Amino acid sequence: MIPGQFDYHAPTTVQEAVQLLQEHGDEAKVLAGGHSLVPLMRLRLAAPSVLVDINRIPELRGINRTNGTVTIGATTTHATIERSEVLKRVLPMLPAAATVIGDPMVRNRGTFGGSLAHADPAGDWPAVALALNAEMRIVGPDGERTVPAGEFFVDLLTSAVEPGELLTHVSIPVPGGNVGMSYQKFGHPASGYAVTGVAAIVTLYENNYCLDCSIAITGAGTKATRATETENALRNQTLDEATMAQAAEQAGTGIDFLGDIYASEEYRQQLVKVYTKRALLAALHAANEGQSAEAQKTL
Ligand SMILES: Cc1cc2nc3c(=O)[nH]c(=O)nc-3n(C[C@H](O)[C@H](O)[C@H](O)COP(=O)(O)OP(=O)(O)OC[C@H]3O[C@@H](n4cnc5c(N)ncnc54)[C@H](O)[C@@H]3O)c2cc1C
Repeated sequence: MIPGQFDYHAPTTVQEAVQLLQEHGDEAKVLAGGHSLVPLMRLRLAAPSVLVDINRIPELRGINRTNGTVTIGATTTHATIERSEVLKRVLPMLPAAATVIGDPMVRNRGTFGGSLAHADPAGDWPAVALALNAEMRIVGPDGERTVPAGEFFVDLLTSAVEPGELLTHVSIPVPGGNVGMSYQKFGHPASGYAVTGVAAIVTLYENNYCLDCSIAITGAGTKATRATETENALRNQTLDEATMAQAAEQAGTGIDFLGDIYASEEYRQQLVKVYTKRALLAALHAANEGQSAEAQKTL
């Protein structure tokens, strides 16, 4: 199908983009990679009369590391994250997760900020951003505000970005200490979207003693959710397969599970337990392999 008619603007600064968004209110939509918006427009499920293309704003693109924080610009593509040597060293879960998003065409066009702002319940980045305690920088007519990932994903396809606002950057603290992280996903065989995806980070003391743990789940419910009961069950415990498997049983607590023709609610409940255990095991393995030692060296 063919989208309805729209006016097209390609601002070159954030200020100009926000001005256009404010001017046109609900009629306007931000265009980033277009890999979620354009299909919706072709189906006439979205019919904006104004598109504000943010791809020509240089400050929105790129990955920067300063003083223990990595900042990723909103229009940075999945492929750029996948190839980033800095991220491979200090936040390896990001490039690893990028490799399982869609296909090369989706990864070359789709953006980090677009995926987060869109808040697709089956998107991969929401779980990764939530587990990493990312902070979203949003610019609107009243200036900039920062929203923690824990408050950013409001509901199905609804993020904290209001009409007239632009998600500009995402700041991610690089975790210190002996840390391992992993994203494990059961992807839909046709689209690649997450039927269930789990991001897990463990911080260890000696002999696999868990000082801290962070787990976030996508795909299973209406929005990405932290598995707080599982996290609490693992903190201050010695991690082994049995302990993690037992804690993973609680990972679905608080998720408003979805069911569809591909995967029922019950199936997703089971996937959450299995993939939480897998992500935890992989994170533990990564910590033991010295994943974070490399990160510390390069900070
Ligand atoms: C075949 C296919 C397979 C896919 N598989 C996966 C997958 O496996 N995993 C996955 O996570 N995703 C998948 N995707 C989605 C893909 O990652 C998209 O790129 C992503 O969801 C949206 O990013 P985008 O840059 O394309 O955003 P767009 O489509 O341009 O925008 C999406 C929405 O966010 C808004 N928006 C965009 N950027 C901003 C911003 N900076 N500030 C405020 N609002 C903004 C837009 O107005 C729009 O409402 C797939 C897509 C396709 C077509």
